[in-house]
Amino acid sequence: MAETKKRKKKMIGLQPEGDIDWSKYRGIMVVVEQRDGTAKSVSWQLLGESKRMAEKLDAPLMALVIGHNVRHIAEEAIGYGADIAYLCDSPELKNYRTRPYSRICLNVIREYKPEIVLYGATYTGRDLAGAIATHLPTGLTADSTMLDVDEERLLHASRPAFSEKMMATILCKQFKPQMATVRSGTFEALPFDKDHKGEIIPVQPVLKPESIDTEVLEFIEATDRVDLEDAQVIVAGGRGIGGPQGFDVLSDMAKELGGTVAATRAATDAGWIDHAYQVGQTGSTVRPKLYIAVGISGAVQHVVGMQNSDYIIAINKDPEAPIFKIANYGIVGDWMDVIPALKAAWMERKQKQVANPV
Ligand SMILES: Cc1cc2nc3c(=O)[nH]c(=O)nc-3n(C[C@H](O)[C@H](O)[C@H](O)COP(=O)(O)OP(=O)(O)OC[C@H]3O[C@@H](n4cnc5c(N)ncnc54)[C@H](O)[C@@H]3O)c2cc1C
Repeated sequence: MAETKKRKKKMIGLQPEGDIDWSKYRGIMVVVEQRDGTAKSVSWQLLGESKRMAEKLDAPLMALVIGHNVRHIAEEAIGYGADIAYLCDSPELKNYRTRPYSRICLNVIREYKPEIVLYGATYTGRDLAGAIATHLPTGLTADSTMLDVDEERLLHASRPAFSEKMMATILCKQFKPQMATVRSGTFEALPFDKDHKGEIIPVQPVLKPESIDTEVLEFIEATDRVDLEDAQVIVAGGRGIGGPQGFDVLSDMAKELGGTVAATRAATDAGWIDHAYQVGQTGSTVRPKLYIAVGISGAVQHVVGMQNSDYIIAINKDPEAPIFKIANYGIVGDWMDVIPALKAAWMERKQKQVANPV
């Protein structure tokens, strides 16, 4: 029995609590996600929020960049607020794979001892953070939507709980690092500052052959991939648009504005559009420059996913609809009249600009 317990501990990488001096753990580390040399915006949003927390803790803000030919991303991380960017750059790290990436993260965490490690709650971030958490004597709060630190240097990671009806704040009091994944669009990135000073520290990729046990043969890009989280303009439809055909009209409008269409859960549950387009507590969190809410009442579960948009225009035939409380501009009317009128006004303006460029 004792032998089994000992073996089990070794297998999952747990170390006895007494051996570890937690006070050596200092600073916040953001694991930067990139693909083909382009960073995901959630990484810069995380650096923005972490800067505030690092100042509260009087601790360094670190970024960890892994990939191949990605020095420019480490430089970007400094511009977005990191004091130190650890850079692990190697041909075998070109594409994300769970085992090599998680092994490198583990080595870096063990060597540089951040007290907090944050990841984007993307498919990759969730996979990576989960793989790392199983090898550290710590927990992982998934899908956080609020972060803070207190005077005891504890991370307060909050997330919706109990069927999204309340917020739970989760603390990891006994172990380090404290880890969380965070939804894209929840926080704002700092403005890029090319003069921000920081240090890039190269990290050698020490990988055992068995850590590189898979090979990426090919990427097949889904043609209908929905990228709501990075969209700058979103035209979203709700139950008020009356059916799937309404989304064809909204799609046209979105294309005209260089954006994408989105939806409420009422519309996705009705099967008018795929669930991938859903914005809100159980969908995507978005932060576009412009969000046009069409036939959407403004239920709290929808609003939490889009309230950080720079400008919100609401179109609703009910002047009492709650969406007007958070909208910068509200238009009371039938969307079938308002959208064509908006589109015509936009086209006219565009033509004028072509005729009289500034
Ligand atoms: C646990 C849980 C999680 C949830 N998660 C989400 C989520 O992630 N995202 C989400 O969106 N919802 C979510 N919901 C559902 C949410 O509570 C609302 O039911 C939903 O957002 C309502 O969608 P809606 O605004 O499209 O529909 P409604 O509330 O029915 O509003 C339709 C609006 O359209 C207007 N309208 C009707 N006809 C017209 C017209 N011709 N022109 C203009 N306006 C018109 C009406 O005045 C009305 O205000 C969740 C609910 C629960 C319980």
